[in-house]
Amino acid sequence: MKKASLWILLSAFVIFLIDWGVMGVKLLEGNYDIMIEAYIALLCFAVIIVCILARLLGRKCPHCKKMLLTDGKFCPYCGKPIEKSSF
Ligand SMILES: [Zn+2]
Repeated sequence: MKKASLWILLSAFVIFLIDWGVMGVKLLEGNYDIMIEAYIALLCFAVIIVCILARLLGRKCPHCKKMLLTDGKFCPYCGKPIEKSSF
């Protein structure tokens, strides 16, 4: 799970950088038709933010602050329900 989100984060970041490069080249050539690139950049930016937030917030019990190794709906330490902030 953690490794998968790291790969999503890395690939989103690479696409984000490439997309900015494409946008820069288009603008330098006087081509201002960059709506698709702008959407891709926005999407990648959203993915990066969600991944970082999920990694920061998603793996701890909100009640006892213990690290959660399982994906259940209840904390195995204190038994309280866990609200899912990650996907
Ligand atoms: Zn707990």
